[in-house]
Amino acid sequence: MEKLTVYSHSDCLSKDNGLNHPERKERLESILSSIEEIDELLIEIKEAPLADFDDINLVHPQYFLDDLFSMIPDLGLVGVEKEPYADTLLCVNSKDAILRACGAGIASANDLIGGSKKRLFCAVRPPGHHAETTRANGFCFVNNVAVTARYLQNRFNLKKIAIIDFDVHHGNGTQEIFYADDSVFYGSIHEHPLFPGTGLESETGVGNIFNAPISSGTNSEDFLEIFSNKILKNVDKFKPEIILISAGFDAHKRDPLANINLESEDYYSLTKSIVEIAKRHCNGRVISFLEGGYDLLALSECIKAHLKGLSE
Ligand SMILES: [Zn+2]
Repeated sequence: MEKLTVYSHSDCLSKDNGLNHPERKERLESILSSIEEIDELLIEIKEAPLADFDDINLVHPQYFLDDLFSMIPDLGLVGVEKEPYADTLLCVNSKDAILRACGAGIASANDLIGGSKKRLFCAVRPPGHHAETTRANGFCFVNNVAVTARYLQNRFNLKKIAIIDFDVHHGNGTQEIFYADDSVFYGSIHEHPLFPGTGLESETGVGNIFNAPISSGTNSEDFLEIFSNKILKNVDKFKPEIILISAGFDAHKRDPLANINLESEDYYSLTKSIVEIAKRHCNGRVISFLEGGYDLLALSECIKAHLKGLSE
């Protein structure tokens, strides 16, 4: 059994999206209290640092960050997008939450390359996979997984990085950032049609993008088979040096924002299958990032299954 490191920070609980918003602090509270209940795994919890702008600039230009943070209100909420997607909101505490969420990935990368850790989970919010190079959307501002991938390549000279995204929504931001970059594999399974509307199988980048759109109502068996055939087989051929996971838990049958019917235990199978490929090609090195997942009970169950799979 591998020891797990979980990065989080109380600043990530201070990001407020107002009443009746699905991306709420209770999501992370549910996850953190669920992690505390786990006694059969070896888990170390560490405080996520604030990310440095120099590192975020590996993906997002400084003018974008300056514009973003200049919109932060002294009171209340400000939407960063126009209708119909007016639910990507900034509050007074947003900046540190955004920097901690990204800093968790940077710290995980440092731990991983330092050699003592192999499996890390970033229990953070806001999520990141919808954030494009110069566009915040889908509750996301900075693309945490993408910055970590670039950081690993630039600071540690890693060449081939795979990002596997099993959030029920397509990671349009991650795809946009790496669309012309064959050093980064991006594989996503997601409900389609659904927000953000991208992620067709025909979107292949430079042969590095693998999209597996699935229909509303897809069950566990079909999901796992498609995930294996369309994503895992291709990442195996890519032979990455490290695997990053965009771990959203909104393909769960209880999730209010989508209509895929995974059971909580399926996240154990999914994660274990990724870890097996990491053992084959990457010396077992995996960093996973919390993305979506909006049902609190499902989150508390799924996180236990995911961490169990990660510790295999
Ligand atoms: Zn999602």
